Amino acid sequence: MNNKNELIYEGKAKKVFSHDDEDKVIIEFKDDATAFNSLKKAKFEGKGKLNCQISTRIFELLIKKNIPTHFIELKNENTMIAKKIKVIPLEIVLRNIAYGSLCKQTTIKSGTVLAKPLIDIYLKNDELNDPLITKERIELMDILNIEDLDIIINLTLKINLILKNFFKKIKLKLVDFKLEFGYDLKNNILLGDEISPDNCRLWDLNQQNDTIVSLDKDRFRNDLGGLIEAYSEINRRINEFI
Ligand code: UDP
Repeated sequence: MNNKNELIYEGKAKKVFSHDDEDKVIIEFKDDATAFNSLKKAKFEGKGKLNCQISTRIFELLIKKNIPTHFIELKNENTMIAKKIKVIPLEIVLRNIAYGSLCKQTTIKSGTVLAKPLIDIYLKNDELNDPLITKERIELMDILNIEDLDIIINLTLKINLILKNFFKKIKLKLVDFKLEFGYDLKNNILLGDEISPDNCRLWDLNQQNDTIVSLDKDRFRNDLGGLIEAYSEINRRINEFI
């Protein structure tokens, strides 16, 4: 980073800097972790690097499968260059297995394998605590039109198939994940943000019985310990495979 790269935005886990090319940004992955809308905070040395590297590999895989993403290239250990996008303020969560908030808000039992993937859409708004919203409310708020929402939903389903298949090969079960999308300067819809154990639930399939071993941010949310070890293990399996 040099003086010309000015901080445009700082989120909970990433900083975004301007790039010399105005259609690009530099994304720095931080070591900070937050959960429960920032009620819980901590720092894990090395998390930024791991998430940057894991995200890079996943974006490269998705690009190979023709998913439009903001990723351009890895810049160094904890920074990547990406296309500048206008982020759509929605969090698209896809669930293969019922866990987390779905089980807190419904009578569905934790661990239930869903007959088909469930997509839950949340409004990205910390003040409102990221509420679950509906297609109709999205239309009312003029966040995006229904055709674009359909494009995003279809991309999310496609991404699920690619990721589920990939993670299975490295003995991980993709329980659920959260995506964010945005518009580039030409108004194309691109996958943005990151794909890492911070926003995916990944369970180890190398277990003898049905014990759930989380290799993701649940280690922090649920005070299980060993977060860096879990993220390193995911990074190791990805690099061994690719
Ligand atoms: N998730 C996320 N950011 C959020 C909320 C959820 O990345 O602000 C991810 C989370 O890591 C999980 C999936 O979305 O992989 C579903 O999370 P859930 O709605 O169950 O919420 P949680 O139990 O994490 O509160």
